[in-house]
Order: sequence, then C-alpha cells, then structure tokens
Amino acid sequence: MKILKKMFYFFLIPILVIYFLFILIAPPLVEKSKNKVHLAPPYQASDRATALFNNLDFVADLHCDALLWNRNLTKRKDYGHVDFPRLQTGNVALQNFTIVTKSPKGQNFNRNSGDSFDMITALSIGQGQPLSTWFNLVNRALYQCNKLHHFADKYHDKFIVVKSKSDLLKLLERRELDKSVIGGMLGVEGGHCLEGDIKNLDKIYKAGVRMLGPTHFFDNEMGGSAHGISGAGLSEFGMQVISKMGDKKMIIDVAHSSEKIIDDILRFYNGPIVSSHTGVKGTYNSSRNLSDNHLIKIAEKGGLIGIAFFPGAIGDGGIPDIVKAMIYTKNLIGVEHVALGSDFDGSVTVPFDATGYPLLVDEMLKQQLIIDEITAIMGGNVKRFLLENLL
Ligand SMILES: [Zn+2]
Repeated sequence: MKILKKMFYFFLIPILVIYFLFILIAPPLVEKSKNKVHLAPPYQASDRATALFNNLDFVADLHCDALLWNRNLTKRKDYGHVDFPRLQTGNVALQNFTIVTKSPKGQNFNRNSGDSFDMITALSIGQGQPLSTWFNLVNRALYQCNKLHHFADKYHDKFIVVKSKSDLLKLLERRELDKSVIGGMLGVEGGHCLEGDIKNLDKIYKAGVRMLGPTHFFDNEMGGSAHGISGAGLSEFGMQVISKMGDKKMIIDVAHSSEKIIDDILRFYNGPIVSSHTGVKGTYNSSRNLSDNHLIKIAEKGGLIGIAFFPGAIGDGGIPDIVKAMIYTKNLIGVEHVALGSDFDGSVTVPFDATGYPLLVDEMLKQQLIIDEITAIMGGNVKRFLLENLL
C-alpha cells in the first residue's frame, strides 16, 4: 500500500509540475500564432481620417472572441487584438464579446463534423481553466461570461457590461463626460452550448448573454451550420430556442448559420437580427458569406450586417476589401444596415488591432464614403439598433 502511495506521488507531482509550467508558457505562444495582424501598432492614418475618427462619439464592433484566450483583458498586451486599454486608446465605445465553446480541428468553411477532435477542449485544459469547463459546454459559456464581469469589476468603474437599454443609456451618459468609459456585450457562437436543454438558455441569459448564433462550425442540436454536413434548417429544438429568444428580445446572429436556418429565422423570428461578422457574396463568393437575397431580407427586418476583417470573409486585399464589402452592402440595402464585425481574436489574421480603426476610416474616405455614412457604419447604426431593441 505504502509503495503504491509513493508511486502515486512519484508520478503525480512531476505531471502536475509539467502541467503548471505548460499552462504558464504555452497559451501565449498558441495565441500569438492564431491572432495575428498584417500591420503592427502604433498606426498612423492621415490627419483628416484621424481627426474624423477621434470625433466619432460611438464606435462599436459586433464581434470579437477575446474571452476565449487566457489573457487578462484589463491589461494591455502586445499580442492578440482586443483588451480594455486598447479599446480605450482606439476610441471604441462598445465591443461585443462572443463566446466560442466548441470548434472542430481543421475547421474549414465547407464541411466540418461535430464529432471531430474539439480544439476548445484542448484549449480549456491547456489554459488551465477550471475542471468544470473541461467537458461541459454550458459551463464553458458561463465561465467566459463570468470572466467579462470579473474584468469589468476590476476596471475602476470604467467598463460597463451592457445587458439592457438602461445600461446602454448609462454608458452613453458616462461617455459624454469621459470617453475612457467603455462597454461590452455578451454573445454566443453556437447553440450547442445549450446542450439540447432549453433551461440553459435562461442560465446564459442570466449570466448576461444577449446575442446568440444558432450554429458555429458544425451542425448541432439547433440545426445546420454553413460549414456543416446536413445543410438543415432549424430543428424542433432550434424553433423552441428562437421562440424563447424572441420572448426575451435577444439578438439572433445568423453568422455561420446554414442558408436554410437563415430562411427559417427570417420567416419565424420576431426579435432583432444581425449577422455579427460576415462578408458578402457580391464582393467575395464564399460559403461563409451572405447572398444578396439574404442581405435584402435581413434589411427588411431592420437587421445589421457586421462586415468582418479577415481574408476568408472579404478576400486577400486587406483594408480596401473591407470597405468594398461595406460599400456593396450599402448600395444594396442602405447604409443604415452596415456595421463593424471585426472577428478580432477569432483565430484570424486581420489588418490591424483594436487601435487601428483610423486606417479603416482613411480607406473609407478614399473610397468616397461621406462623413454621415462613416459615422453610421463605425457605430451609429449599432447604437440606434440597440436603443431600439434592448429591453
Ligand atoms: Zn465566427
């Protein structure tokens, strides 16, 4: 018995030491290889673009995955794309933080199975997250929600988690006196985090989630993904979830949904609709991107299209391609439906980090967008949409 006990410690202690060393060293290395930028900060835009940008009262981005990584978002880092200090430097008023809970290895835009090895399990273990998140998707989502609340609490009253219209009004009021006050909203990528149990929707809502995309990279209990196998529309469970989301006036996010799910949402959903981070087939034809038909119908429902910044959504041309997608969308459905949907920290390479928006404004001016249009796209539309739709 004694020998067994000795053997146990003999093996266990080195394994624990190696694990703790691993979770100290590996996560930043993994992240640095995943969330890159084409251009390193600091960024220098033209005087005109910089002045215009600094005058914007409300810059908002509909999508980032910063909560996925083992980074203290209250501290400025020189890797990844988003943290609170960089949002402040970048004159951002509101950042949506979206939660990823499962993602198949070798994720691609065409065909993924939910049975493939899950990268987020590896990340949860490798980053030393609590044991409760290792094999439970709803716990993973709740853990990331709590992270944002925890960071907000530690940020000297300068960060507001926006869950309601009154939170947003408070943010706007505080920003009139102090532009370093910033806000964040919580969303989820993929209804698989509900694990097929409608009660889990209440749990994530209670934790602050106000936006949900039915599917992410693979088909789940709610229905088919744009990159899955079935191509299915909403399942019975999916219909149940969106009906309850409608009661709570949650924002539904069609990014990553199969075409059939988007059709079902457009037919049956009675709450607010966005595509939080997407490109458009009109400028870049990918299975990830929205067709003209869907753009028109989302606009008819008063929805927003967040234009993403990564090559898989807009093409390889960088900032000019982002603006091309914005202008195409504006010409098709009206500027009041166009927004930012960077996908910062979403395992993508983007042109700049959260401090680089003046470069985007520079290109918007070059491509002949007028000041009112720039103001609307950079965040004015998100502000109006949330004031209309948050309870
Ligand atoms: Zn995504």
